[in-house]
Amino acid sequence: MASPKDNIQFLKGIGPAKAKRFNALGIETIGDLIYHYPRSYEDRTTMVFIAELEVDCPACFKAMVMRVDKTHLIRKGLEITKVVVADSTARLNLTFFNNRYVAEALRRGEEYIFYGAITGDYLGYNMTNPVVESPYDPPLMTRRILPVYPLTAGLSNKAVTQAVRQALEVCGAPPEILPPEILQTYDILPADVAYKAIHTPMSQEDLAAARKRLVFEEFFIFSAGLSLMRARRKEKTTVPYLNRDMGEFFSALPFTLTGAQSRAIGEIVADLGKGRPMNRLLQGDVGSGKTMVAAAAAYCSVKNGHQVALMAPTEILAEQHARSLTALLEPLGVNCVLLTGSMSATKKRNVREQMASGEPLLAIGTHALLSKGTAFGNLGLVITDEQHRFGVGQRAALAEKGENTHLLVMSATPIPRTLSLILFGDLDVSVLDELPPGRQGIETFLVNESYRTRLNGFVRKEVEAGHQCYIVCPAVEEGEGESGKAAEVWAETLRRVVFPDLQVSLLHGRMKGQQKEEIMAAFSRGESQILVATTVIEVGVDVPNATLMIVEDADRFGLSQLHQLRGRVGRGSAKSYCILVSNSLNPDTRARLKALCKTTDGFRIAEEDLRLRGPGDFFGQRQHGLPTFKAADLSMDMGLLTEAQTAAAQWIEAHGHEDSPAAGAIRERVRALFDDGNVTMN
Ligand code: ADP
Ligand code: MG
Repeated sequence: MASPKDNIQFLKGIGPAKAKRFNALGIETIGDLIYHYPRSYEDRTTMVFIAELEVDCPACFKAMVMRVDKTHLIRKGLEITKVVVADSTARLNLTFFNNRYVAEALRRGEEYIFYGAITGDYLGYNMTNPVVESPYDPPLMTRRILPVYPLTAGLSNKAVTQAVRQALEVCGAPPEILPPEILQTYDILPADVAYKAIHTPMSQEDLAAARKRLVFEEFFIFSAGLSLMRARRKEKTTVPYLNRDMGEFFSALPFTLTGAQSRAIGEIVADLGKGRPMNRLLQGDVGSGKTMVAAAAAYCSVKNGHQVALMAPTEILAEQHARSLTALLEPLGVNCVLLTGSMSATKKRNVREQMASGEPLLAIGTHALLSKGTAFGNLGLVITDEQHRFGVGQRAALAEKGENTHLLVMSATPIPRTLSLILFGDLDVSVLDELPPGRQGIETFLVNESYRTRLNGFVRKEVEAGHQCYIVCPAVEEGEGESGKAAEVWAETLRRVVFPDLQVSLLHGRMKGQQKEEIMAAFSRGESQILVATTVIEVGVDVPNATLMIVEDADRFGLSQLHQLRGRVGRGSAKSYCILVSNSLNPDTRARLKALCKTTDGFRIAEEDLRLRGPGDFFGQRQHGLPTFKAADLSMDMGLLTEAQTAAAQWIEAHGHEDSPAAGAIRERVRALFDDGNVTMN
């Protein structure tokens, strides 16, 4: 027996060259092969007679070879071999292109199993390049439900199928980790049956049951991970904050808080006085003023002698928070520091020393705050901004940097409600359901290229009124990905041809940290009127004087992403506009973009996005803070997720901390699932 940890080169037929191709699919070990699930299936179980074959409907049939013609070269690189076969109902002409090894190996008078579809009409039918197998060999490519695997250049589906089969033969299915009582209660197949059936299903029912098992297993592990994190946090206690006087903070604010902001701050400050770690989600749509609530929480924590970490998903956002929070809080005696990956080593060292010393401060940063070299001497509160951009594991990892830290998670709700209940189910929730006063709303339009001249005129009009404008492009350089507008080229055109008299600046993710910060800061001071950017400005960026957001090739973005982009305007008192430019004629695409013109409700947009685009896109962008699932499809398997969550919560409650091998195996799998955010879970 081989071990699942063995290299795939252990398998017959896989040498170093072929192994490289498997590596490209993320497959290194025999175990990886077993977890490499088919992308889809092709049902080849139907056996028919030749006379029953229908045009363009592939099927299997058994036939005898009557004739094999000589292979001809019809032109350079194109060989053709004609074969005639027959069964008791009819004869059929087969044509093999560039396939002489298969065709010429067919022996006259012998029977074979073929799989293919016929083309033609009553004057004559033909089948091109059918799949051939001997009826004496075990069914591999015919007479069964064929798995269709994710592939890569140089690896055929057949090669992957054979490798997976071999892997299952030499090391068997992964051991059962689900407790027997759970298998029974939820009607779940045992592991060995399920792993075998997912790769070599005998029937559609088999397949459905196997899929259910694997999805359930994945969700169970995921939910067990969340339950473990919760359980660990619930046990903890903290020193209650005694100094909860926020008067000085309130009087330093440049505006009056909204009712919703005051309520949220009240709830947070009360949590901080309770002597247990706070676990709170602050939910509010783009522009609702979450930063101020974070500032209040940070102020309270620092005034009680603690350190605060505020983590943002992009450097641009971290820098912006550092600028605005420093301006607000330093006069109140709160030391604010910034830590991002692109800062110089000396600067980083200096900041890290302050953090390690334990002196009260507010550290604002990117996931650099999570890195091994970063330690806090006295971390009391962790805040994550735009949590949907982080993994659940990253949130936990940051909290683990301190003893019994308070946690405030902020999110603009771009995930559907059901899912957020599961992800954040353990958190208390504060909602900002009110926008700051004086906002005039954002009008959204969908236009195509024929509006370009009017659009340019509109930009000019906004700029002449003293406002600023964002133009977002899907790519940085020309020729990147598909043919979407490239920020670099477009910025150059605008500068030279369209607005030579205006300041047009350019911002994209490939620029150096320092450069990005300067460009963003200059735009924020009003030194340039037009900012051409990629989606680096998608989240959080706050320049209230910007009133116009133009998204080029808008069809290239997801709805939630467009909603976030639109949220960059409408942050001041002037009327704002969002213009989606798309030449797409696809009715679905247009319906999707029109939906955005009609509503500004982030919840509704997230749900619409999921419904319209399906999980591949919505969940493909890792905008949800979830680990990558292999079998589960979050838009379709929500029912199973709920069941698995119940099962996992009950199981963790009863057995989570047991020292048994069974409990250990589950914890091990939890660790592996959450590991993709370089997080350690104990
Ligand atoms: P988000 O919830 O999207 O993070 P921000 O915290 O960036 O929103 O706030 C959006 C804008 O509204 C900022 O320019 C901020 O200064 C401003 N703002 C926040 N609260 C208020 C308020 N109570 N009154 C007026 N403006 C506010
Ligand atoms: Mg924000």
